[in-house]
Amino acid sequence: MTIDTTFQIPEVEISPKAQAFLDKSKKCLIDGKWVDSASGKGFSVFNPANGSIIDMAPAGDKEDIDAAVNAARKVFDDPSHSWNTMTPSERGKLIWKIGDLILDNADELAEIESIDNGKPMAVAKVADVPLSADLFHYMAGWATKIEGNTIPISVPYAPGAKFHAFTTREPVGVIGQIIPWNFPLLMAAWKLGPALATGNCVVLKPAEQTPITALRLGEILQEAGVPDGVVNIVTGMGETAGAALAAHDEVDKVAFTGSTEVGKMIVQAAAGNLKKVTLELGGKSPNIIFKDTANLEQTIAGAASAIFFNHGQCCCAGSRLYVEKDIYGEVVDGIADAAKQIKLGPGLANDTEMGPLVSDEQLCRVTDYMNAGQEAGATCVTGGSRLGEQGYFVSPTLFKDASEDMSIVREEIFGPVVVASPFEDVEEIIERSNDSTYGLAAGIWTKDIAKAHRTAARLRAGTVWINCYNIFDSALPFGGYKQSGWGREMGHEVLDLYTETKAVCIGL
Ligand code: NAP
Ligand code: MG
Repeated sequence: MTIDTTFQIPEVEISPKAQAFLDKSKKCLIDGKWVDSASGKGFSVFNPANGSIIDMAPAGDKEDIDAAVNAARKVFDDPSHSWNTMTPSERGKLIWKIGDLILDNADELAEIESIDNGKPMAVAKVADVPLSADLFHYMAGWATKIEGNTIPISVPYAPGAKFHAFTTREPVGVIGQIIPWNFPLLMAAWKLGPALATGNCVVLKPAEQTPITALRLGEILQEAGVPDGVVNIVTGMGETAGAALAAHDEVDKVAFTGSTEVGKMIVQAAAGNLKKVTLELGGKSPNIIFKDTANLEQTIAGAASAIFFNHGQCCCAGSRLYVEKDIYGEVVDGIADAAKQIKLGPGLANDTEMGPLVSDEQLCRVTDYMNAGQEAGATCVTGGSRLGEQGYFVSPTLFKDASEDMSIVREEIFGPVVVASPFEDVEEIIERSNDSTYGLAAGIWTKDIAKAHRTAARLRAGTVWINCYNIFDSALPFGGYKQSGWGREMGHEVLDLYTETKAVCIGL
């Protein structure tokens, strides 16, 4: 692996407020109390910009998960508990308040997120934090709109009989939620918002790399008035705490975001009690630029951002860039220029546009792919190296001349690495785009609106962006086809996955 040793990182300062939260001893939130792990053990949390230890979090394990599930179960199973007697309107107001409190603490949350994950604080301020608040605000409105139907029934074997039949939507029960490290606060919001709007109880396990903002969010939930035991947060390893949660017999559903590999393990673990499972998994999303794109300069900027946003650590990153032959050279040059201009640095520096990767493990994974691409014979147009020897920085990387069977084309890298390839016609590019085990997202750039619609309809992906990329909204469902997952996050679609339908039939 080549290392650019000229790369230097500036000194940055942590604000007193964020430092005060980091200095606080971290505990799990179980039944409304902040408690150490049952074993008393903890694990180190790293600053990816320099590899230093910034905090310790409790190493929760099966015993802690048992306690958290029991707390959630106790609330859910008690019809006289305040969580279950609360009116939908009161529940909506409480969820709205969570959104407000996130905004009240936006700067602190953005700063902690940046220190823990490595992402630029400026990005966390305009994206992660406001999107998280908006998710709670959006879901708050749904609390009063979880409705069933009245259904006219015929019953052929009961001639002349009269019935009144209707459906209600009820919470699924105790939900285990396991989230990744790429958008720690936002992924917690995506999971908690709909679970609370529909009246469920939750045990949340954040990623071991980034447990900090979920714990701060736990404080915010308490401040908003979420009753004890409704949301429990257990930090710990996936193999221990995560696995115990996925397998737990008293958990009614597990909602997971992360790798496809672990997603398959979740499905197996869930088989014991046949708990419901929703999965938001990986991707290898095609981003297709037609030669008739409206504005080439904006398209190039959009395609660069499609892969380089959040350092490529996005499940929907536009990592396969397909460009119509006539403009291929120009686009490749443009993306390479854009990659070279990105200012890398620690997330807390004001001018940082791209921070470090999240962990040492991810650094190895991404640089292994960079090496694999070069060894397989792809041309590295720009990037392809680690930056500096401190922290987990890599250069934004563009490959070309790759064959479709190379690992850099087929596998999710989860780093700032894009592979460009030319195409000649629509049929060819639809087939190549769909030639993936994944089906999370896709991009199309053209001013021919009929072609855009025809192509979008044929792409096997849960989201298709046309003349834009990475556009997220609380109202817009997000999730994958094929091995990119089961179910959808956000929008009203997610509410179906956090409710059971009960059919009630009354003989009149
Ligand atoms: P991961 O291993 O799938 O982790 C995601 C979550 O699952 C984490 O909370 C993790 O805990 C937990 N987990 C791990 N093993 C588990 C198990 N056996 N049972 C239950 N839970 C378990 O993902 P990762 O290691 O963070 O990253 C690896 C790859 O996953 C990435 O390179 C990328 O391809 C993909 N990924 C996808 C997304 C997405 O948004 N779709 C996000 C992140 C990563 P620990 O943190 O303790 O391992
Ligand atoms: Mg992991």
